[in-house]
Amino acid sequence: MAVPQPARRLEGFGESQIRRFTRLAQEFDAINLGQGMPDFDPPAALTAALRETTAHQYTFTWGDGALREAIAAQTVTTWGASIDPDREITITCGVTEALVAAVFATVDPGDEVIVIEPMHENYVPAILMAGATPSVCTLRRPEYRLDPDALNAAAGPRARALILNTPHNPAGRVFDAEELAAIASLCERRGLVLITDEIYADIVYDGRRHLPPAARPDLRERTIAIGGLGKALSATGWRLGYAIAPPALTDALRKVHEYLVICAPAPLQEAAARALPQLGAHLRGVAAGYQRRRDVLLAELRAAGFRVPHVEGAYYVLADFEPLGARMGAPQTSAAGAEWLIRNARVAAIPGESFYAADVAGARTLLRFAFCKREETLRAAGARLREALA
Ligand code: PMP
Repeated sequence: MAVPQPARRLEGFGESQIRRFTRLAQEFDAINLGQGMPDFDPPAALTAALRETTAHQYTFTWGDGALREAIAAQTVTTWGASIDPDREITITCGVTEALVAAVFATVDPGDEVIVIEPMHENYVPAILMAGATPSVCTLRRPEYRLDPDALNAAAGPRARALILNTPHNPAGRVFDAEELAAIASLCERRGLVLITDEIYADIVYDGRRHLPPAARPDLRERTIAIGGLGKALSATGWRLGYAIAPPALTDALRKVHEYLVICAPAPLQEAAARALPQLGAHLRGVAAGYQRRRDVLLAELRAAGFRVPHVEGAYYVLADFEPLGARMGAPQTSAAGAEWLIRNARVAAIPGESFYAADVAGARTLLRFAFCKREETLRAAGARLREALA
């Protein structure tokens, strides 16, 4: 008898490299600087609020009212424009669900979605599951600046939406006003929906400011702005994200969200709603804490011989092992380099190539290290790297 086969839409989906290297890290008892997950706890106000929660039944499908209000209040300070928590905010199961819902709500089969690489591993699967095709604009290395010509060239005749991640994982960029102007100009000319992934909005360094694209009046009407609580509150397992968009886009997104998940977990929404108003100081201090960790990890990587770029925001660095290639057995791919590092230094990183849609020569020697770890973890990883690469 014929065995049931997986759906054709899954063809071409491999195991996520992040999952694979997390498994390998466990196997070799490595320090895991791969997955972007803190090795420290959320702020005490959040965990205390969780212990006191009384919410056990469904919330409104678009989310707990107090949480939507707290997010609106927080976002208004950076957007400078009013946000209606009832008609414009949807609480989702993480940024991941919000992104899938945004793509499903705005893109038809056969359409193209512009993505900017290197990019987070979830974007292309979301686009493919919607029956659409990714159209790729590659950031110029080593500065990872957005080139307006490359961006415009990526906008084919079927372009329908553009996904923009800022602050950027894995390149560490915080896109500036000039780059946002190029995006706004393309979106306006071509009538694109802009889907932003701003999960690292609170994590920017050296006095720089995150510029929310929807704060631009010309982008507000066409943007689904996605954020999350996982990174700023060190609570990635809570799976709380949100999407902010004008009512018509929100209505579309809520239809997908409702049929996918009904609502995000009620106790976690309630706890977050109670804690958020007390977490202003924590949120203002998040970037300073990560800036110290950034400085520790970048110094360790340099001391071990990696070439490292400047990191403006988010909590990753794409380090180049090209100068260390001979010592690492001349790996031909970044996956081979990452495997060498796990076996010989017992430090896990993610291969740079997994953030690119196709083979890009410069990515073959890149590894992404996450620095959302205690400083002692980063120093211990540095010591292992220096020893293995000496
Ligand atoms: N977008 C980016 C850019 C990320 O780095 C991550 C997590 N590493 C996500 C989305 C996933 O977010 P969430 O855990 O809220 O689904």
